[in-house]
Amino acid sequence: MGEQAPIGTRNAAKSGKSKGGAAASGARKRTAPGAGTRTESRLAMVRRARRINRELADVYPYAHPELDFRNPFELLVATVLSAQTTDLRVNQTTPALFAAYPTPEELAAAVPEELEAIIRPTGFFRAKARSLLGLSAALRDDFGGEVPGRLEDLVKLPGVGRKTAFVVLGNAYGVPGITVDTHFGRLVRRWKWTEQEDPEKVEAEIAEIFPKSEWTMLSHRVIFHGRRICHARKPACGACPIAHLCPSYGEGETDPEKAKKLLKYEMGGQPGQRLNPPADYPGTPAPPLGASGQASA
Ligand code: SF4
Repeated sequence: MGEQAPIGTRNAAKSGKSKGGAAASGARKRTAPGAGTRTESRLAMVRRARRINRELADVYPYAHPELDFRNPFELLVATVLSAQTTDLRVNQTTPALFAAYPTPEELAAAVPEELEAIIRPTGFFRAKARSLLGLSAALRDDFGGEVPGRLEDLVKLPGVGRKTAFVVLGNAYGVPGITVDTHFGRLVRRWKWTEQEDPEKVEAEIAEIFPKSEWTMLSHRVIFHGRRICHARKPACGACPIAHLCPSYGEGETDPEKAKKLLKYEMGGQPGQRLNPPADYPGTPAPPLGASGQASA
């Protein structure tokens, strides 16, 4: 990609708020609400959490699910394929998959070896093929070829757990849900919103902090932040727009210039994960399978 200014830097300059590298200075941190103290009250934590959510909404007004899909069936299949791989890799694989098997009926009737060959790039392809064949047959036989819109039905489908079910409910059916993936869990623990490790317990505690109407977009914003800035190994603290609200500031690179180099996707001027992103996405679409120049994670 060319020399596009990182989106976070542009947002900070535009809004005039103390976002971007300047927000991450040591001086800012010492006065930060909740930072550097173990005695933050529950009320203060809830206020800080809601403020983080509001500021993330300013940073990522275009936050969205990063799997390409055109209907609930495609979203369900793509979410099952996304286990243990990147959304980008799934998005690069599903065009051929849905061209070959556009409906649950057709996917249920697939020759397993042919299906495995198509989804091989997503890894664990034998197990994923079994799940896709099983869930497609269940959709065909038990739900009239439609993806059900209820949690209790979705989690009975082969290969579908609560996380997958919430992704489908939240993004295909507009039912509020919190998606606790690896990014969400890591970030909410860094922000001291919870100490829980178990995804279901994390989900329950975060649900107490935010109104239902915020759950789906909160999930997208937090996951966006985890993929772009607050990485597992090297969080880019020095370029983080919410550093002033973060008790874990300093866990990653604090030098603003070095931190900027760690930014990913549109924040770093690179392509996103979707081949067909929403119209308001400020970055560039991901290239098809086999093209070079990819960000990862
Ligand atoms: S750990 Fe660093 S990158 Fe992550 S939210 Fe806190 S300040 Fe930002």
